[in-house]
Amino acid sequence: MNQSDIKRLAVVGSTGSIGTQTLDIVERFPQLYSVSVLSAGSRVEPLVEQALKFRPALAVIADESKLPQLREALAPAGIATAAGPEALAEAMTRDDVDMAVTATVGYSGLEPTIRAIGAGKDIALANKETLVVAGDLVNRLLKKSPTKIYPVDSEHSAVAQCLVGETADSVRRLIITASGGPFRTWDAARLANATVADALRHPNWSMGAKITVDSATMLNKAFELIEAHYLFGIEPRRIRAVVHPQSIVHSMVEFKDGAIKAQLGVPDMRLPIAYALGCHSRLDQAAPRLTLEQMSSLTFEEPDLDKFPCLTLARTAMDRGGNTACVINAANEVANLAFRQGRLPYSGIYDVITATLDRVAHIAEPEYADYVATNDEACAIAAALVDKY
Ligand code: NDP
Ligand code: MG
Repeated sequence: MNQSDIKRLAVVGSTGSIGTQTLDIVERFPQLYSVSVLSAGSRVEPLVEQALKFRPALAVIADESKLPQLREALAPAGIATAAGPEALAEAMTRDDVDMAVTATVGYSGLEPTIRAIGAGKDIALANKETLVVAGDLVNRLLKKSPTKIYPVDSEHSAVAQCLVGETADSVRRLIITASGGPFRTWDAARLANATVADALRHPNWSMGAKITVDSATMLNKAFELIEAHYLFGIEPRRIRAVVHPQSIVHSMVEFKDGAIKAQLGVPDMRLPIAYALGCHSRLDQAAPRLTLEQMSSLTFEEPDLDKFPCLTLARTAMDRGGNTACVINAANEVANLAFRQGRLPYSGIYDVITATLDRVAHIAEPEYADYVATNDEACAIAAALVDKY
């Protein structure tokens, strides 16, 4: 294999949970992958450590106040540095980038994704919030671009694997599995007093703090139903969530003849990450193997919508359309953080989201500027609601 076969990555959010696991794959398969761009939000030290190890052409930090520190550490190694959201988005368009890995958290994934699509780069998409916020816009842009999106989210990777060799008209529905999170077996009274430590104790997956709390409220699953709608072009009423506490079946597709295909594996994100980086091809031992003993008990149950009202927000978002999901995402970013900082109780997350939804004007066909304005407005309203809660 020669140098030109090596896929050059721009990793947005390289210091996070998905980012570091992506770099684990790069490190283990240097004949396949290299990194041209690494980026973090505000943590300079881990970014410097990664840059000195993986030698990207450019390291970007979103927090502009950290640029001098980053530059001082990387200039001697001849690694270029930049800061701010615009520099990060611009980095997606570089000639030495073949694929963008969007592993940043929340709304910050939208602009780099849009710029990568504009430059025709393939995308390994972990940042599901991009599709939640602006799935219609992203899909419109994809129609005019050679870019292909490869999902990193384990459920969507599973659906993509189940769809190989199938035609769109043979699909009856998508069945997205959910672990049920740490509160699956809790009753309502106990749930009312759930602490941050309780919410961060996910039974099966080790992930960043924001998505771990989204999993506890099950808003993560609502987001994944929306993500599936945009990725696979399936109508919302044909996508359902089912609770599967073992997290072995990563999702399923039911076909019109009654057959169901499922993708199984250990709960290890390196498997879907490697499948996405390889544009849906397989690497030798990307993740530990699943033993048959681990499959001896696979159970499935209906989600409890009374206990997890955030899950109903997927339907609200898809029925109303337009900027609705953008509002839900923004309010959740504020409420999720406030909960993690001890400024909002667990039950306040749903309340803040729904109260924000009531207060932001609906826009039926938003353009990019409308999403930006909606996000700003919803964040401000949600922040005021948190203060008064
Ligand atoms: P983490 O919180 O672990 O990591 C987030 C990364 O993004 C860090 O590198 C962080 O930098 C960086 N970052 C934070 N804010 C900004 C910003 N404003 N601009 C640029 N970079 C920023 O998150 P995860 O890895 O858990 O999740 C990343 C995405 O992947 C999310 O959208 C999540 O929903 C999705 N996902 C994650 C899964 C998982 O297993 N973790 C599974 C499926 C999907 P810093 O270190 O400086 O804070
Ligand atoms: Mg997932």
